[in-house]
Amino acid sequence: MSALLEIDGLYSGYAGVAMVRDLNLTVHAGEIVALLGPNGAGKTTTLLTTSGLNPAMKGDIRVFGRSIRGRPAHRAPREGLAHVLEDRSLFYQLTVAENLRLAAARSRGDLDRALSYFPALEPLLGRRAGLLSGGEQQMLAMARALTSKPRLLMVDEMSLGLAPVIVERLLPVLRRIVDDTGAGVLLVEQHVHLALEVADRAAVLVHGDLVASGTTAEIAGRAAALEETYLGADASPDASPDASRTAGPDDRPDDPETDPEADRKDHDE
Ligand code: ATP
Repeated sequence: MSALLEIDGLYSGYAGVAMVRDLNLTVHAGEIVALLGPNGAGKTTTLLTTSGLNPAMKGDIRVFGRSIRGRPAHRAPREGLAHVLEDRSLFYQLTVAENLRLAAARSRGDLDRALSYFPALEPLLGRRAGLLSGGEQQMLAMARALTSKPRLLMVDEMSLGLAPVIVERLLPVLRRIVDDTGAGVLLVEQHVHLALEVADRAAVLVHGDLVASGTTAEIAGRAAALEETYLGADASPDASPDASRTAGPDDRPDDPETDPEADRKDHDE
C-alpha cells in the first residue's frame, strides 16, 4: 500500500502557539484512518494544515509523496486532495445543482459520479442548499468534494449536529468510496464507536499530543482505558459534554434528521 499522506513531526497552531505537537500520521491508499480525540485536541488544526489552510510551524507533510511546503491551498483539489470542512462550506443561497456544478467546474470534475454516491440528493437538485436538512447538507458537502475525484479525502466532523442514525447511514458511504476508487480517507469524528466501525486504523489526539494509534481492533481493545483516561465523555456522543454540537435540536423525535418521512413532507409542502 502506498502512502498518500505522510505527516512527520508536525507542529502546528495559531499565533506561534503549537496546538498539535510532534504528530506522525500516515494514510495509505484504500484505507480509512480515523483521527479521534476530545474537543480542542487539534484534529481540525491537523486537517487545515494538511490542506495548506494553516501553515505548519515545524515538521513536514507529504501528500502523494510531495511536500506541501509552498503549495497554495487552492491547488489541493486539482492535485487530488479534497477536504470537507467542519462548516461544510456550502453556498446556501444557491441550489444543490449549482453548488455541485461550481465544485465540478472548479476542479474540472465529474458531477454524475459524485452524485451516484448520494442518490438522495437527486430529487433535491433544484432546492436551495440553505433549505436542506443537516444530513442533506452533509451529503452535498461530500458530493462537492467527490467531484474532484480525490485520491485523498479528509472529512472533518461529518456528524456535527446530526443525529447518530444519520451518521450511521453516511459513514458506510465513505467505505464504498474507498473500495470503489482506492482513495484514502482521513476522518475526524466525534462518534468514536461509529468511526471505529468504519475505519481501518485510528489515531487518538489529546491536547495536541498523539496518545494512541493502531488498527481499529487495537484501539477498540483499548477503548475503555482510552475513554477513561483521555476521551472522557466525548467517546460517547450521547454523553458528550458538548451535547449541543453532537446532538442538539437534531435529536428531536419529529426532526427531519431522525424521521426521513417528516423531512420529505417538510420539503414537499
Ligand atoms: P473540535 O472538535 O472542538 O473542533 P479539534 O480537536 O478539532 O476540536 P482544533 O479545532 O484543532 O481542535 O483546536 C485545537 C486548539 O486550537 C484548541 O485549543 C482551539 O481553541 C485552538 N484554536 C482553534 N482554532 C484557532 C484559531 N483560529 N485561533 C486560535 N486558536 C485556535
